[in-house]
Amino acid sequence: MSGGIRVVFNGVRGSTPCAGPEYARFGGHSASVALETDDAFPILLDLGTGLRPYARRCSGVFHGTVLLSHLHWDHVQGLPFFTPLHCEGATLDVHGPRQDDGPLGEVFAQMMRPPFFPIVPDQLAGDVRFHDTGDDDFPIGHAKVRSRWVRHVGPTLGFRVELNGVSVAYVPDHGPGCKPEHPDDYIPSEMLELCDGVDLLIHDAQHTKAEYESKRHWGHCTIEYAVHVARESGARRLALFHHDPAHDDKTLEGIERGAIEYAARIGAPGVIAAYEGLELDLAPAVPGAG
Ligand SMILES: [Zn+2]
Ligand SMILES: [Zn+2]
Repeated sequence: MSGGIRVVFNGVRGSTPCAGPEYARFGGHSASVALETDDAFPILLDLGTGLRPYARRCSGVFHGTVLLSHLHWDHVQGLPFFTPLHCEGATLDVHGPRQDDGPLGEVFAQMMRPPFFPIVPDQLAGDVRFHDTGDDDFPIGHAKVRSRWVRHVGPTLGFRVELNGVSVAYVPDHGPGCKPEHPDDYIPSEMLELCDGVDLLIHDAQHTKAEYESKRHWGHCTIEYAVHVARESGARRLALFHHDPAHDDKTLEGIERGAIEYAARIGAPGVIAAYEGLELDLAPAVPGAG
């Protein structure tokens, strides 16, 4: 790979990990994506259980950054099992949502501590540093990062990363139903700021339309809403993400087929249902090639 970004999907499941032969194709690990380049340490999107096997790709003393959407279990439980942090000298900078109850690092440590887990983050050999984040724009190395609050249950951020001439938006949990006053097809301006013209939009796609009706307050959206956001924001490609653990491979294959057909019908970009192990090489657009 020269130029661009490689997007590596380590875990694509929402809510809770799942295992079994019926999940063999899409995988059962919870939310974890890595943005890799040739010449820098990765930018990790969330810390779900898919982060543990990602350690196999890491060599040497690790220095990385995490863009953490929120503190729900499916987005954090991989951190203590990420073996590169078991080594002295490793560092991990975690940019995550500012909390009402205190600094992000202290709130995180309320979950990762005895009796819930044997150690607290400070007892890892590597150095984990938390950065309270809100509606911000900040650099990570050569990358430009934008974070915006999005509708979900509890403080939750979506992110946009621009690096090496390509852009990725990551909004794993997005619940239009959290604001009952919003019409179903409403897209907040913050979302458009995140997703405007991105090369790849990775978006919540937890529910079918039928499931959504009884679960509006869960903080997730329909597959059709994800396609709608991709079209309205001018995204060039959509990866359906945060699959419901009740959706086995057969169900997800049907969902993907339906989403591709729907996107073609309404003039939305190409759609793929993200799966564990998927790697997408995003190259900068060639000037004049449209
Ligand atoms: Zn989630
Ligand atoms: Zn959540």
